[in-house]
Amino acid sequence: MKIIDKLREERIHISFEVFPPKTEAGFDKVMEATEKIARLTPAYISVTYGAGGGTSKNTAKIASYIKRELNVESIAHLTCVSSTKEEVRKVIANLKELGIENILALRGDIPAGAQFPSGDRFHYAYELIQEIRKQGDFCIGAACYPEGHVENEHKVDDIKYLKQKVDCGVDFLTTQMFFDNDIHYNFLYRIREAGITVPVLPGIMPITSAAQMKRSQELSGTVFPRRFLAILDRFGDSPEAMKQAGIAYATDQIIDLLANGIRNIHIYSMNKPEIASAIMQNLSEIVKCQG
Ligand code: FAD
Repeated sequence: MKIIDKLREERIHISFEVFPPKTEAGFDKVMEATEKIARLTPAYISVTYGAGGGTSKNTAKIASYIKRELNVESIAHLTCVSSTKEEVRKVIANLKELGIENILALRGDIPAGAQFPSGDRFHYAYELIQEIRKQGDFCIGAACYPEGHVENEHKVDDIKYLKQKVDCGVDFLTTQMFFDNDIHYNFLYRIREAGITVPVLPGIMPITSAAQMKRSQELSGTVFPRRFLAILDRFGDSPEAMKQAGIAYATDQIIDLLANGIRNIHIYSMNKPEIASAIMQNLSEIVKCQG
């Protein structure tokens, strides 16, 4: 099923994300985590794509397994910047052959110091989206950044390029993680003003350790609000307490988003079924609310 058809329903949808193992040795562990996450009956599970890495073939394999064997809809991420156009076309053809209907189309991060020959590649996500549209009837998701993309100095440009990307055939957007919902509400206002009308799923990252917070900040450039920093100061050295507080913080963010009329939420569950499960437990009655 196409994810966009789910997102249009008048009900709450929660989705999760898993990432493939870095080495083949980790495959079984990832599959075990994925199976546990699937048992929480999310609207769909997304499977990330290691930008240009040797394990990216596992994305298609895992997404196909989720759909066929676990009976949960899946979306395969696909990045383009560190592959040739021919390589990208092959991946899309393979996804089609496997019956994958949903692709999250991304540029991917450019590895520090990388020099790619310029001619034979897609340089931005919008070009990849045009290519996917040519190759088949996929539902296409793309990324957006409530705090602005780290490489872009001006938020206005970010929204201008986002509009260009969406106009190439994006069905829905998923946001980068953020920890202050007001930033998201403000972003929604600005993109709607710019004429971007597709559904936008807030991406919620449960932060359960100080190390994870540091990594997230480096990756996304996100600003952590004072309220979150106080939690980290107080509980950062007690792993179990920090885990509980991180789950509560993410739950609180989700409840606020739902209370403000957002129906679809994506959780960066990071192959941690116990965290996904704790959040779903906290939302057990809330997700039953229709409309
Ligand atoms: P783009 O939309 O191409 O934008 C990249 C930059 O270029 C932005 O600064 C944008 O403003 C600018 N830009 C866009 N179009 C133009 C133009 N025409 N001219 C000039 N500048 C332009 N990474 C992975 O490696 N694997 C994953 O699985 C993965 N999943 C992700 C899922 C989500 C929901 C999100 C939010 C991010 C994910 N990422 C993933 C990270 C992502 O690949 C990086 O953030 C990457 O730097 C940007 O990708 P993009 O698709 O947003 O790029």
